[in-house]
Amino acid sequence: MKKKITKAKRKDLKNDNNPVPQKHHRPTWDEYFMEIAKQVGTRGTCDRGRVGCVIVKDKRLISTGYVGSPAGVKHCDEIGHEMHTVDYGNGDIHRHCVRTAHAETNAIVQAARFGISTDGGTLYCMMVPCYTCAKNIINAGIRRVVCEKDYHGGKRTKEIFSESGVELVLLSGELMQYADQK
Ligand SMILES: [Zn+2]
Ligand SMILES: [Zn+2]
Repeated sequence: MKKKITKAKRKDLKNDNNPVPQKHHRPTWDEYFMEIAKQVGTRGTCDRGRVGCVIVKDKRLISTGYVGSPAGVKHCDEIGHEMHTVDYGNGDIHRHCVRTAHAETNAIVQAARFGISTDGGTLYCMMVPCYTCAKNIINAGIRRVVCEKDYHGGKRTKEIFSESGVELVLLSGELMQYADQK
């Protein structure tokens, strides 16, 4: 029996000889995973930083995390923030919302929950991680951290990353800004 070729198919065959390639910017691996981290962040539940994070090993995405209350606990978006004022003792006083677990810690915890090793991995996040997440990152064996932006409270993170040999890459020199940060 003769195979039927539809009109559309015939047109495809005609144009198939030497198609002109479209100009396409193929993202670098860092751009690729950072874009995924941004998408993950849209699930965040605190508008002071609706950010996401991914952990990657050997160019494979192994875990994701976004900022939010622990599972089953009410979110900032439902009941408001849980603000704390922290006096750093050096003249710096910052206000933080402490209701949420941060994206970086959540990504590490998700990997632990499902038995996936983060050792030797790379972590992609929106800004230089806070001091607490930085300690978790180091102890999770992550060796490279790629951030979209800098963070005003990132001094100690930078110090301990440097001291412990975690490579820190900032994709832009921009500082993350949000309301009521002091
Ligand atoms: Zn909040
Ligand atoms: Zn954090």
